[in-house]
This record gives sequence, structure tokens and C-alpha cells, in this order.
Amino acid sequence: MSRVLVIGCGGVASVAIQKCCQADEVFTELCIASRTKEKCDALAEKLKGKTKTVLTTAKVDADDVDQLIELINDYKPDLVMNIALPYQDLTIMDACLACGVNYMDTANYEPEDTDDPKWRAIYEKRCKEEGFSAYFDYSWQWAYRKKFEDAGLTALLGCGFDPGVTQAYCAYALKHEFDQIDTIDILDCNGGDHGYAFATNFNPEINLREVSAPGSYWENGHWVEIPPMDIKREYNFDQVGDKDMYLLHHEEIESLAKTIPGVKRIRFFMTFGQSYLDHMRCLEDVGMLSTTPIQYNGQEIVPIQFLKELLPDPASLGPRTKGKTNIGCIFTGVKDGKEKTYYIYNVCDHQECYHEVGSQAISYTTGVPAMCGAMMMLTGKWIRPGVYTVEEFDPDPFLDALDRYGLPRSENHDPKLVD
Ligand code: NDP
Repeated sequence: MSRVLVIGCGGVASVAIQKCCQADEVFTELCIASRTKEKCDALAEKLKGKTKTVLTTAKVDADDVDQLIELINDYKPDLVMNIALPYQDLTIMDACLACGVNYMDTANYEPEDTDDPKWRAIYEKRCKEEGFSAYFDYSWQWAYRKKFEDAGLTALLGCGFDPGVTQAYCAYALKHEFDQIDTIDILDCNGGDHGYAFATNFNPEINLREVSAPGSYWENGHWVEIPPMDIKREYNFDQVGDKDMYLLHHEEIESLAKTIPGVKRIRFFMTFGQSYLDHMRCLEDVGMLSTTPIQYNGQEIVPIQFLKELLPDPASLGPRTKGKTNIGCIFTGVKDGKEKTYYIYNVCDHQECYHEVGSQAISYTTGVPAMCGAMMMLTGKWIRPGVYTVEEFDPDPFLDALDRYGLPRSENHDPKLVD
């Protein structure tokens, strides 16, 4: 028996909600709340008669803490699943604290307005102190640790695939495969083709910000930052084939550097096709990726938000996308005094996802872990007062749930390493 409030009803949330409804013995009551209530109503209608989960819907502006508190106090959930945007992480955490409810999300906080002088001053200090310049980092949400501990509440951060499952893979490797992990390479390959010259697989604003930023990796106790797309490698992915991949900054590196004892190097690579990179560079050169508002015909517009309106809705890519994703982690380290390597990954087929839940694999590979993370919390397996990332909990029941709900793991004990 549980009551869950899901905030957001976009690409990822709609997969997570459909998967919650498949596990209706755990998710007995669920409220879908978002800015555009019609989307919540449409999803609830689609699920009618297909699940025992009792679904309701609500309208909420998650930037407004008072509205959130009113909704949470009214619905009285056991858990709030934040699957809106990273901009809303802090307001939703504040509301959960005010109402005494557990919290989870799929991406760490970043501000919508990166020109806000108050935020900028803190950001610039962090860039100098930490040595990486991404707009997102864990410091904002880790600052809530004591508040969640004191309230006896759990906050689970970043429970999608990457971040999320990749950290569970690290915890699993440490628990079962290694005494000491020396290096971790997280490889995110999307071998899918949607037939458009340019489109993003999830929220364009968040996606383009991430990809156009400098890359960075963790080595020997500090960050090494490099220009965007400066390190390129080729890798032959199981069931996908050869792909070019580029080193990016990624949020889970920051927590893994703290939670995997003695790790010497952590890198993150993502595959991109040449057409995607050419379009992105051109859009950036003409200023279309800017988050700074400009005046146009007497109206204020934010270039990247305008671009989002022009690009295909990621939710519409489902029927067109063919091919597979392959996401996982390659480890080197030591077990029983011997050096060893290990690769754990998941392969997910875009069309199979579409036939099951009407979405492509990027939303699927994020929505399923969100549901499985919520299940870990609701069944008491991942409940501990404080603010935690995925690798801080027992990976075994989570990976078992992923195996069962559509993202089974594959393993290779003799993988080709990335140089
Ligand atoms: P979408 O843009 O498809 O959906 C976002 C949803 O949030 C929409 O329903 C939107 O409402 C709603 N929303 C936005 N602002 C507000 C607000 N102020 N109040 C209430 N609702 C709001 O995004 P995705 O589904 O692609 O991504 C969801 C999250 O998942 C993001 O945080 C993203 O960073 C994360 N993600 C994580 C990954 C991982 O592996 N960990 C991978 C991919 C994504 P409306 O319909 O009105 O716009």
C-alpha cells in the first residue's frame, strides 16, 4: 500500500508512471501533477482499465513552494517523485521537508537563469574551488543533508540511468567483483536513428546545455577540465557496433569520486553522430543555445527556449527511432590480489520500448530506474534519513528490479578497455 505523487508528465515521467502501474501491488495510489494538467489527464485516461493503481491528476507549478505544499498536504503521499526539470529540485525538496515526505529525482539541481548574480557568485566560487565549470553540481542538494536527517526523511538523488543505474553498477562492482576499483569508464551509447537531421532525445534545453559544456574527468584526486568534445574515442558496442564517443562532464562522477574509496580515474563518454555535432556547433555559433533573454519585437525571449519550440518534441521520436542503446561501466581494479577488468551494461531496443510504453529508449532507460528507485524506497529497502545518491544504497535489489522491469544487465569479464 502506498501513495505516490509524481511531479512532471513529460517523456521520462510518462514511462515511469506506466511502469509504476505495471507494479500496482506496490504503487497502489498515484497522483500525476504537472504544469499542463491536460497531459496528466491524457496519460491517466490511457492507463484506465490497464492497472489496479488508483490514478488522480492535479495541476501544479513546481517553481512555487506554496502550491507544492498545498498539493502535498492535500494528497498526503508517502513519496514525491520529482520527474519535472532540474530547475525544480530545490523547491520540491523544500516542500517535502515542510510536509514531512520522502523525495526522489532523476537529475541534480541547476538553475534556469544562469545569469542570476546571486547564483553566479556561488557558482564562480565553486568553479575555482572544485575545478569544473558545469552549471549543475551536487552542492545545492547535499546542503539539505542535515535537514533531511533531522526530519527523519530520505532524499534519493539522480535515479535515472546515468546518473542512477551507472552508480548502482559501481556499487555492484565494488560489492561483488573488486576489493579495489582503480578506474571507471561510463559509456553511454545511443545507436538509435530517428531520421531527423537534428533532434534531442530528451528535454532539448537540458540536453544541449550538457553537451555544449566543457568536458571533465576525475583523476588522482582532482578534476581535469577540457574544451567541449576535445577527447574522442571509438568503441565497438555490443549489439550496436562501432561508434564515436566523446568525453563529457557528467554529474555522477562528482559523487562517485567521493563514494568509491581510492578510485584513481573516472571518465564519462557519450556517442554522437557527426550531423548532431555539426548542427549543435552551428546553433551555438549563432547564439541559439544561449540562456540569456533577448528582446524580439518588444517581447523577451530566451534563445534556447525558442529553439526548443522549433525542435521535434522528444516524446514524438518514439515511433521513428530504430536501433539500440547500450549504457554501462567498465572497471579496472584488483580482486584477491589480482588485477582484473569488468564491464556491466544494459542494451535497450528503441522499438521494443515504443511498443511497450509509446516512448523511445532514452525516456525508457530513465523512467524504469525512477520507478525501481521509488519501489526500493516504498518497500523500505532504500530508506535512511539524509540525502543520498544511488551508489550509497544496496545495488542488489535495485538491479534485480531492473532485470525484471525491462532493463536487464549484461556482463563481460574480459572487455576491451578505452585508452
Ligand atoms: P520533459 O521536458 O519531457 O518533461 C518535463 C515535465 O516537467 C513536463 O511535463 C513539464 O510540464 C514539467 N514541468 C516543467 N516545469 C514545471 C513546473 N514549473 N511545474 C510543474 N511541472 C513542470 O523532460 P524529460 O521527461 O525528458 O526529463 C525529465 C527529467 O529527467 C529531467 O530532470 C531530466 O534532466 C531528467 N533526465 C535524467 C536522465 C538520467 O538518466 N538520469 C536522462 C534523461 C533525462 P509541461 O508539459 O507543462 O512542459
